[in-house]
Amino acid sequence: MRWSSYFIPTLREVPADAEVISHKLLLRAGMVRQLSAGLYSYLPTAQRSVLRIAAIIREEMEAVGAQEFFLTALNPAELWQESGRWALMGPNMFRLKDRKGAEMCLGMTHEEVMTDIARRELRSYKQLPQVWYQIQTKFRDEARPKSGLLRVRQFTMKDAYSFDVDQAGLDQSFEAQRKAYCRIFSRCGLDFEIVDADSGAMGGSASNEFMVYTDAGEDLVVSCPKCHYAANLEKATARIAPIDDGAEVAQIEKFPTPGVRTIDDLVNFPGGASADRQIKTLVFIAVAAKGNDAQNRPLLALLRGDHSVNEAKLSNAAARLVNKDGWELVNLRAAHPEEIHDLLGAHPGSLGAVGVKGPLVIVEESLRGRQNMTTGANEDDHHLRGVAVDRDIEPAAWADLRNVVEGETCPKCDGALHVAKALEVGHIFKLGTKYSVAMGASVLNADGKETPVIMGCYGIGVERILAAAIERNHDEAGIIFPISIAPFQVILSPLNMKDEEVRNLAEQLYNSLRASGIEVLFDDRDERAGVKLNDADLVGFPFQIRIGPKKLKEGLVEFYDRATRQSGDIAADSAIEVTLARVQAAYRQLNERFV
Ligand SMILES: [Zn+2]
Repeated sequence: MRWSSYFIPTLREVPADAEVISHKLLLRAGMVRQLSAGLYSYLPTAQRSVLRIAAIIREEMEAVGAQEFFLTALNPAELWQESGRWALMGPNMFRLKDRKGAEMCLGMTHEEVMTDIARRELRSYKQLPQVWYQIQTKFRDEARPKSGLLRVRQFTMKDAYSFDVDQAGLDQSFEAQRKAYCRIFSRCGLDFEIVDADSGAMGGSASNEFMVYTDAGEDLVVSCPKCHYAANLEKATARIAPIDDGAEVAQIEKFPTPGVRTIDDLVNFPGGASADRQIKTLVFIAVAAKGNDAQNRPLLALLRGDHSVNEAKLSNAAARLVNKDGWELVNLRAAHPEEIHDLLGAHPGSLGAVGVKGPLVIVEESLRGRQNMTTGANEDDHHLRGVAVDRDIEPAAWADLRNVVEGETCPKCDGALHVAKALEVGHIFKLGTKYSVAMGASVLNADGKETPVIMGCYGIGVERILAAAIERNHDEAGIIFPISIAPFQVILSPLNMKDEEVRNLAEQLYNSLRASGIEVLFDDRDERAGVKLNDADLVGFPFQIRIGPKKLKEGLVEFYDRATRQSGDIAADSAIEVTLARVQAAYRQLNERFV
């Protein structure tokens, strides 16, 4: 490609509305443009990168025997109603009606469609395992699209689905995908961490997330530097030091606490209590559904005063209580102040669970056995002291509800846990029979018995790889692309197009590089050398051949490495050879990252 006729609208100024680095650089490098909130147009250089990422994904999927499909983004509502996710996906799903009034949606994932194909076509265990994948557009009506390509309403996803006859088969399919993912991200130049994750709305038993550490990420990963324990915040646990509650078991005593509204207020109140000797009471409404019936069930979550609730953990604990007799938890929300007052007779700041009957009470594990605690009295401006959790509170369940914090002790060893921001680029799940049972996908096993197929699902955000690579690889001059996903591997930059010798050599090198299979962009623009060098650094082509009139008189050109920003003179007639060797070495380095 020749830059003079190629569309790369680079910008000198940093766009004001861009927050994260990848967003700023993708805009400045002329790679993407925003259409509206959470919707981006990919210009030619970004599309080249995305296609190269997709090609790596395809190679690794085919290498583990996955077969490529292409499903429709537009789905009939019935399939999602069968799986139960029509209600579950709530406002995140784009819904529409066709001209006949039939309800439809734009797919967020494709478990339902794949399961539908499986139930129609698969009859015998002899046809299994099957691993099916696609690279396709997905839609999600994000409440707050932001951060450039990191939270968008339309994106490309590689989603794969495995179908096995038994658990051992699923374990094998899952492991094959896990290894393929390691190769994909390594080949794309990403350092990643595999973490234990919560399965959330996808259902199923085991799941791993592939996370890239970056401050632009919206997830938190808890990791142990000593034993390599890693889990996301929704799943992470930690060991905490015991608190001394005193040996004497006190009786409950109510005392006035005028003006006390928060844990800290009570810490500073005369006769109050330290945060770790308080019980925090949070009120939620669990919305449960059964067919067309819906119920609001009040729920109290009790935590140590200095702990914070993790809503995913709480939601899982609530689901374990609610999901029975055909009822299913569809939503968990914080209760409104009026609802709280109706329920407990007091306002937030004076709430507690002593003597409370009716609402579901879930108590955080770290409160087990605690005594002489302080909590709200359910009477405004009053608290109770001398509360013994096991004696005075009737839990519907005990559960791990809290967020792990930096420095707590690893659950597997005595290391100190580290909490860091990360971006999810891939997620793999063992779904089990959630969809096959709900939708009736079964095969005959070796004993001739009808058995539901056992499924796994495996997703990668394609554009997220691009954004994550930029978050991890950039400097003040711009993007530093890993060779494997750069829009072009090499940029050829004659620094003075008016010089005939320079121009001639550039034309000659351009043709030879292309003939050698190098992806090369020829910067044949009639621009000043400074502009060409800055633009090349901004877009981040891994290697650059610079041809200047002065050096060329001595038979030399300059070879520049974007990652190190080092350049060196090489003989003009060795330029092809050197370039090929450097490109191959760069690929070798990426491939060696994963053994
Ligand atoms: Zn550890």
